[in-house]
Amino acid sequence: MTVAEKIGQLVQSDASYGYPPDYLGDAIRAGQLGAVLNTSNVAHVNELQRIAMEESRLSIPLLVGRDVIHGFATVAPIPLGQAATWNPHLVQAGARAAALEACCTGINWTFAPMIDITRDPRWGRIAESFGEDPLLASRLGVAMVRGFQTDDPMQPTAIAACAKHFAAYGATEGGRDYSATQVPENELRNVHLRPFQAAVDAGVLSLMTSFSDVDGVPATANAFLLRSILREEWQFAGLVVSDWQSVQQLQTHGLTASDAESAAEAITAGVDIEMAGTCYQTHLAELLTAGAIDPQRLDAAVANVLRVKCRLGLFDSARYRITDRTRGDVTAGDETAKALAQQSCVLLKHTAGVLPLSATAINTLGVLGPLADAPYQQLGTWIFDGDVERSVTPLESLRELAAGQFEVKYERALMHSRSKDTSQFEQALAVAQQSDAVLLFLGEESILSGEAHSRANIDLPGAQVELVAAVRAIGKPVVAVILAGRPLTLANVLEHVDAVLFCWHPGTFAGPAITELLFGAAVPSGKLPVTFPRVVGQIPIFYNHKNTGRPPSADTVAHIDSLDSRAPQTSLGMSAYYLDAGFEPQFPFGFGLSYATLRYHDLRLSQSELMPGDELQVSVRITNDSEYDCEEVAQLYIRDVAANVTRPVRELKDFSRVRVPAGQTVDVSLALHTDDLGFFGRHNRWMVEAGAFELWVGADSNATLGDRFTLQVPPDASTLSTDR
Ligand code: BGC
Repeated sequence: MTVAEKIGQLVQSDASYGYPPDYLGDAIRAGQLGAVLNTSNVAHVNELQRIAMEESRLSIPLLVGRDVIHGFATVAPIPLGQAATWNPHLVQAGARAAALEACCTGINWTFAPMIDITRDPRWGRIAESFGEDPLLASRLGVAMVRGFQTDDPMQPTAIAACAKHFAAYGATEGGRDYSATQVPENELRNVHLRPFQAAVDAGVLSLMTSFSDVDGVPATANAFLLRSILREEWQFAGLVVSDWQSVQQLQTHGLTASDAESAAEAITAGVDIEMAGTCYQTHLAELLTAGAIDPQRLDAAVANVLRVKCRLGLFDSARYRITDRTRGDVTAGDETAKALAQQSCVLLKHTAGVLPLSATAINTLGVLGPLADAPYQQLGTWIFDGDVERSVTPLESLRELAAGQFEVKYERALMHSRSKDTSQFEQALAVAQQSDAVLLFLGEESILSGEAHSRANIDLPGAQVELVAAVRAIGKPVVAVILAGRPLTLANVLEHVDAVLFCWHPGTFAGPAITELLFGAAVPSGKLPVTFPRVVGQIPIFYNHKNTGRPPSADTVAHIDSLDSRAPQTSLGMSAYYLDAGFEPQFPFGFGLSYATLRYHDLRLSQSELMPGDELQVSVRITNDSEYDCEEVAQLYIRDVAANVTRPVRELKDFSRVRVPAGQTVDVSLALHTDDLGFFGRHNRWMVEAGAFELWVGADSNATLGDRFTLQVPPDASTLSTDR
């Protein structure tokens, strides 16, 4: 390969213009371009691949990248919603369905999964994440990788996955997108890097760098992340791509003084492909001539790219030629997308007897709100190829169900979620007056979350809270169905409604998924993948926090409204809480109600003393005391009582989604290997440390059914520390 041809393999250009059909063809013909993104026009992709294979000197096929984030034409829930299913099998099936649709257009590389851990619901990109927990994000991230790539990435329907954004993007300051992150190495390793290592271990073919400044060195120039950890510690053999123009942005960050310096920093740190920028193509050759970059590093970057192309089987003509393939059966993924939508819905509040609704007991159902019939909004962020024509809205499904049984009266009340125009409230309230029950479809339009769409106030926007209060005053049963791209602060809604079903942005099949839940054909089973704060000022608030030296408890907190103004300095509990917001969230991680009433009991541990290498079997029984068949997500948490660095008050270690038929008791088995007790300790060394552990099993991160066990030191070892 000539130097120019090598550099060409490291360049990825935006192909979204897509016209004329050989747009970018000259660069490909000359061996100056190895990857494109943002085209799903099959004729265009095909022509570009033909030029690469037949008219360029080396006949190297192109990587064709696209953000296939939560579906393609058929849209599944946003990833945060998928995380609420706690169902890796279904998430894998969703990624497989998306790959099947996407690969037919020539896409062979998706920029997913996004496995950034985030503890900040203000951040718009929380929608794309799996939430706040490293284990949940790891399992779901791996599931997506498997769904996209399959066991055999050579086969024609496999597409390369890309774990992003490496690393710590989700810790962005103040929840503002693109801000700096300040994460100490111990937290970086124990929290933010865990899902990435899991994805690498699962064979993910690529990683994308984060836009953010990570402790002073932007991720795109961060050799500690990209070389020491990723290549040396984890032995990653795939490729690393920058984020969109993030090489160029090194200068904007203030790390470099020119594009040439940016190119040198990025390639030296370990970025193989520059996405949508010109630093590599313009400057790598001159940098090489000047001795400013190591030729071996250039070769290694090219090898990483070619290895991925080989692993994908792109050199096989059947793999890159797609003219003979049709779009396939677009309905093949429908059941999966609907199941994901249904299992993602979290019942946050329920006054007994309100849900499920009964088609025979209702004469008139009032359907109000800006998101009852919003086919585009229900799809959520990142839906480049989403087919809005296929969206089935809740209003459509409710009308279909009602036909011949009861009447549906609909008023939008607000034109969109941000609207402050209350002029249609009168008609809406008239509908409420005439109805036996009211469904209020509230939340956020899709534009309010996603990249660069952060919010400082995460209440329901516009005049929605006023609408809720006005409807409540009518006195009918009110159910709020909330569609949103992030957790919201709901204190001012909860008091005015009888039930809340939180549905994220559910995708194409919002309508049937939600209607079946509301009318009892299915029972809510989603669980929160992220903590819901009471007020924005509590952020960051997350379940796996540290204990502190002065942890709060119900009897150590005072409330601002009941303070004596001469209360002495030390009389207010002296613990870690807010005078005006306490210390508890609105809803904890893992939380989600059901129509069924479930009891956890008979917790049993296979042993109470473990030796290194043992696997603890944890069993529990769940009894369903109701008449509803349901699914439940049983969750196992532990706490390392004393360690050489402080450990979280609780950590999720295993979970299982199980079916619990009405009136029955089921046995659930969860497991914990002693390796699962490992963590990065002092000096950031991986270790498994002997000592006492507490353990809980239950329906959410506040589970109270618990026990203890100890990990013993083997007689011949003074420490259990192990290198990874
Ligand atoms: C985003 C990435 C995305 C890329 C390509 C960037 O702005 O941060 O997540 O994959 O664009 O569209």
